[in-house]
This record gives sequence, structure tokens and C-alpha cells, in this order.
Amino acid sequence: MLSIRQRLTLWYTLVLMVMFVTFAGVIYVGGAWQLRQAADRELLDTARQLTETLLRGEDPVAVDVAYRFLTLDGRVVRSSGLPARHVPIAAAAVEAARNGKTWSEIVAMPARPLGPQPGGGVLRRSIPIQLRLLTLPLGNPTQYILQVGTITTDLQRLRNLLFTALLLGLVLGLPAAAAGGWWLAGRALRPVKAITATARRIEARNLAERLPQPPQDDELGQLAATLNGLLDRLQAAFQRERRFTADISHDLRTPLALIKSNIGVALNRPRTAAELQTTLTQVEGQIDRMTGLVEATLFLARSDTEQLAQEFAALNLSELLTDLYETTAPYASEELGQTLCNEIAAGLWVMGDRDQLTRLFLNLVDNAMRYTPAGGTIRLAGRMQGQHAVVEVEDNGAGIAPADLPRVFDRFYRADEARTGGHHAHYGLGLSIAQAIAQAHGGEITVRSIPGRGSCFTVSLPICLTR
Ligand code: ADP
Repeated sequence: MLSIRQRLTLWYTLVLMVMFVTFAGVIYVGGAWQLRQAADRELLDTARQLTETLLRGEDPVAVDVAYRFLTLDGRVVRSSGLPARHVPIAAAAVEAARNGKTWSEIVAMPARPLGPQPGGGVLRRSIPIQLRLLTLPLGNPTQYILQVGTITTDLQRLRNLLFTALLLGLVLGLPAAAAGGWWLAGRALRPVKAITATARRIEARNLAERLPQPPQDDELGQLAATLNGLLDRLQAAFQRERRFTADISHDLRTPLALIKSNIGVALNRPRTAAELQTTLTQVEGQIDRMTGLVEATLFLARSDTEQLAQEFAALNLSELLTDLYETTAPYASEELGQTLCNEIAAGLWVMGDRDQLTRLFLNLVDNAMRYTPAGGTIRLAGRMQGQHAVVEVEDNGAGIAPADLPRVFDRFYRADEARTGGHHAHYGLGLSIAQAIAQAHGGEITVRSIPGRGSCFTVSLPICLTR
């Protein structure tokens, strides 16, 4: 398989060659034709002068062409320099003249001795002579035939010279064109070499390395920038995955350590049934915590591979929110001393999965209840806005610091780690899961918050028009 550089060079040379051959062909053929035409015109002019002299019955003087004057049956009346034994009279030429037409031909004369030389020996013509012979009818109707001829050696030499010059141009120009093409292609492809060499080096360990950016913003510059953008995204994803794995391991280590210490304490000395039961209950709690974490992680992994949007159907969001309100409001007021307000508009329909959407809004309401002190108020509102169903979960609790706000949707991010302290089943995954669900439903989730005044989470989902 040829490399791009070889192919480019080949094409470049081929195109140049075709262009040159066409150009040379036109020059050669056109040039030769022009020369012949000029010679013919000159011959015709001389022939006209000769005709007048010959028809007057006079002998032409001082003509620089060979001629012969024939009768219609081919008998030579007068001739100069055109002996019939060297230049035979062509039947076709006589026939054409008889029909009143001018005939033009090239007659090759064999090389012959030019004559004895002073030092002895015989000088021969080096090349066979070519004669341009014009046959003209005289009189109307034709009575006589005039043949005039001139040697075309000069013409031939000129043509040969032209041919040699063009051939030389081709022979010398072709390697030069190929070399030029090779150099040009190499120069154009140099950044590709650098990009390939760096790309070969990049692997998971040195994902921070970037491809060299060519100085020009041409196709290769754009390719390098695009690949670097891809590397940026890959690196970010890779780092996210690493952090995710580290966070999971960290969160699994705490309950595992607790289980081990519980069991260790229990095995330390003989225990009563009641003591063992207490230990087992504690172990069960830790296992529940780990199960919750593994389940949440699995859910996010599924959302990453876009498996969430599979079982969507039209559903009444107003009904779902009202159910949620009815199950959580008594708990909020009786257990936490909070007021849950219902501002859910009727008839909000969306395409979605009931369990996933319940989980999304339960996470938001659960957070609102958790981060709002007793006596606080939580507002659960749903309304139609344009083509979207907009749900707000607003509380007047602790609020979120501006520095934490952009990161609350990050996996394992807990703004108030000190407060949760890892003792609850909250791993900082609740909002990540809520966001993954909203996005899987073609919607989005945003937050605004003022520390000390409260937070408001807004979920916007496209409404379902057909059901
Ligand atoms: P967690 O499992 O810790 O609740 P989330 O992903 O649900 O994790 O929330 C991430 C962080 O966002 C929480 O640790 C908390 O600091 C903050 N947060 C979420 N909801 C609220 C809220 N309604 N009021 C104040 N802070 C909140």
C-alpha cells in the first residue's frame, strides 16, 4: 500500500506529465503545421509567377525552386531540377490536375552522392532529402500541368529540433516534478507525522499530554484541535471515573471496618444471646448501607450507558407528585415539625418512567426535609411553562454556599460532610441520580440558593402531547 506522500507525488507528477505532453503535442503539431503552411504558400506564389512565364512560352530565369512543365499525358515539356528518374511523376497528381485540382505531396529522395571530393572519395548526403511537391493545373479546362518542388530539409531540421527540445523538457522535467512533488507532500504532511508520534505515546497514564498544534489553522490544525478536545474530554471522564472508584471504595471501607470491629468485639469473649442480637442488628445496618451504595452506583452506571430511557410511557406527573406529597407531608409535620405545601397544578403529562421520576422527586423532597430545621416550610409546586412541566422543590432551610452550588450535582459531593459525617445512608449521590433521571427524560435540573434563606431545585421536563 502506497503512503499518502507517495500517492500525492504520483498524482502530482502524473498531472504535470499529462499537462506537459498535451502542451508539447499542441506546440509540436501546431508548429509543424504552421511551417508547412508557410512553405506551401511560398511555393504557390513562385508557381504563379512561373505559370505566367511558362504560358508565354518563355524560359523562366532566376527561380529558386525546381519545376517541371508537363502536358496532360505526362510528357515533360520543360524542367529544371526535377529529373523524372529521381522524382517520378505520380499518377494521382496528374489525375488531380486533370480534374482542375491542386495536389500537394512529399517525395522522399534517396541519399545519393553529391560529387567527388578534392582529396578523393565521394561526399554523400547524410540524410535522405524530402521534397515538397506541388502539382497545379494550368488553363481552364486544364491544358498543362506545372509541378514545383522545394527541399524541406530546413523545415525538417526545425521540426526535429522542436521535437528534441520538447522531449528533453519532458525527460528532465519529469524527475524534477517528482522531486518537487515529493518535497511538497512531505512538507504538507510533516504535522501529521508529529501528531502520529505523539498520539502513539498517549495512553491512560499520560492522558494529560496533548498533540502538537500546527501553527496554521488549516485542516491539520483543526484535526489536532479536535483530537485535543477529545483528549480533554477523555481525561476528564477518566478522572471522574477514578474519583468515582476511589469514593466508592472509601464509602465501602467505613461500614466494612465497622462490621469487622463489631464481629471482633462479639468474638472477644462469650456473649449472651441479647448481646449477639445487638451486634447482628448493627451489622445488618452496615450491610444495608453498603447495599444502598452499591444500588445507587449501579443505577448511575446504567444511566451512563443510557439504559434508563427504555421503558418510557405517558404518565400523569400531577398525580405522581400528589401521591408523593400525600406520603411525605404527614411524616414532615409529625416527625420533623415542617410544613409541606402542595402547589401542584392538575393535568401535567410527561413521557417517563414512574419509578425513576418518583425517585427523582423523593430525593429532592428528602433533601429539603433534611436540610430544613423544624418549623420550616417546604413548597412542592408543579406548573406548565411553554412546552415543559416545571416542578419546584423549595425550602427555607440552611441553603447552599455559592462555592458549593456548582458542585452539588457531582457524584459523591457532600457540601456538609461534617454534618452528615458518613453516619447516614447519604453518600452524595442523591442529586447525581436526580440529574441523571432528569436528563434521561430529556429534561434538566437546576438549583438556586441563598445560604441561611433556603434552596429551590427546579426540574423541567418536556410535556407529552400525545397520550
Ligand atoms: P446527599 O446524599 O449527601 O444528600 P445529594 O447529592 O442529595 O447528597 O446532595 C449533595 C449535597 O447538596 C448535600 O450533601 C448537601 O450539602 C447539598 N444539598 C442538597 N439539597 C439541599 C437542600 N435542600 N438544602 C441545602 N443543601 C442541600
